[in-house]
Amino acid sequence: MDTKSNALGSHAVVIGGSVAGLLAARALSTSFDHVTVVERDTFPAHTVPRRGVPQGRQVHALLTRGAVGLDSLFPGFIDAMTAAGIPSGDGQAEFTWFLDGHRMAKAESGLRGFGVSRPQIEAMIRDRVRALPNVSLRESTQADGLLVEEGRAAGVRIRPAGGAEETLAAELVVDAAGRGSRAHAWLRDFGCPVPEQSVVRTNVVYVTRRFKQEPGLLDGTLGTTVVPYPGQPRAGVVIRQEADVVAVLLAGLLGEEPPTDDAGMLAFASGLDGQAAADVLRSGTPLDDAVKMRYPESTLHHYDRLDRHLEGFLVVGDALCSFNPIYGQGMTVAVMEAELLQSLLERGDRQNLASRFFEAAATMLVEPWSLAVGGDLRFPEVEGERGPQDEEVNTYLSGFRAAAAVDPVLGTAFLKVANMMAPVSSLFSPELMERTQQVLDA
Ligand SMILES: Cc1cc2nc3c(=O)[nH]c(=O)nc-3n(C[C@H](O)[C@H](O)[C@H](O)COP(=O)(O)OP(=O)(O)OC[C@H]3O[C@@H](n4cnc5c(N)ncnc54)[C@H](O)[C@@H]3O)c2cc1C
Repeated sequence: MDTKSNALGSHAVVIGGSVAGLLAARALSTSFDHVTVVERDTFPAHTVPRRGVPQGRQVHALLTRGAVGLDSLFPGFIDAMTAAGIPSGDGQAEFTWFLDGHRMAKAESGLRGFGVSRPQIEAMIRDRVRALPNVSLRESTQADGLLVEEGRAAGVRIRPAGGAEETLAAELVVDAAGRGSRAHAWLRDFGCPVPEQSVVRTNVVYVTRRFKQEPGLLDGTLGTTVVPYPGQPRAGVVIRQEADVVAVLLAGLLGEEPPTDDAGMLAFASGLDGQAAADVLRSGTPLDDAVKMRYPESTLHHYDRLDRHLEGFLVVGDALCSFNPIYGQGMTVAVMEAELLQSLLERGDRQNLASRFFEAAATMLVEPWSLAVGGDLRFPEVEGERGPQDEEVNTYLSGFRAAAAVDPVLGTAFLKVANMMAPVSSLFSPELMERTQQVLDA
């Protein structure tokens, strides 16, 4: 066998065959002879939601940074989305944004948005990973625990549906089992330290319902988003998706709960800026029933702070950090973790891989975590540490959101940050601060 890297080992196992697990497998495939993805579910033959990914029934946004990263991990991915009939358009010119009750001024931003459902994007990634000659997908198989030898992870215990337990030996195990990951319990089983967590509770409730794309709905644009803000803990998204679908998402946080019945949804949507969701609910033809999902809290596991790691064991995706879904970051962060993993592995050295990966991931996660938590902490009801400068920052950003209704350059700058194409600090450049002030003074 042609061994890719003796330093790394020949076999890697990924637990969980959802977005983060498949992307991790793609990253590992260039450095390991063989990669096995172990997934509890049976993968559906069509692009439909599956049990292990209940959020698959809810509207998902793919941020520009995520699309760019997917295109580099799988060259041609963006063109393939278009070929698959996934609607796309400029994220500012063809999409309507309401920030703090202000309608963002339209302009070409150069940021492309995609109306793609969660099952569709997972299926497209899965097809590409399945085509990699050295990756196997073992579906209908549950990982039950780790194998540890000489103080390092040496594989996993697995149980195929209806079958007996087996072991899979591997030099590297990557946990991509999502928010239900059992990594902490497994680490405790072997006397390894478990990480502390940062938790921010927002009690987000999502309700999604899909409608038929009919003339008049959305007037040829890609969609509308109403972002929640203090005093208005309600949000809404209307977006065109593949297969001539218009999806409507209603979201509430901090005790606000969108109903799932027709009249209740319409009443909830009628309170949102712009009326886009209410228009679809009033005149659209539903394709299915509304589906509700709760997302109580965002969680960041601080593996980087451990003084001792179980070498040969990494954690990625929602199992490492899960965000308030309103900000649409999870899949994009999974892409960025795969890029990170690939670049660390390509150095061909497994020495201290766990500590190097967790440190690099923690550094990468600072920006998306602070973006999401910063937004959540604007709500006085959300518990969390607030810094002495937060009030000043929030006052400036409130003015910025209001000014973006007049000056489209501000809207573009905001969307670059929201799409993870620019850091939050870019909003504080002298030029943007001056433009904001000019609008507010006028
Ligand atoms: C309501 C909601 C809305 C969201 N909206 C967005 C959005 O707009 N944009 C965005 O980018 N992200 C969004 N996210 C986040 C996004 O869904 C996730 O970040 C993304 O799916 C990656 O998650 P993951 O692969 O880490 O885990 P998951 O998608 O949760 O997958 C975990 C996988 O592991 C499998 N598994 C679990 N345990 C085992 C085991 N023991 N053995 C074998 N297999 C196992 C499960 O079956 C599943 O397939 C949203 C999340 C929620 C909850």
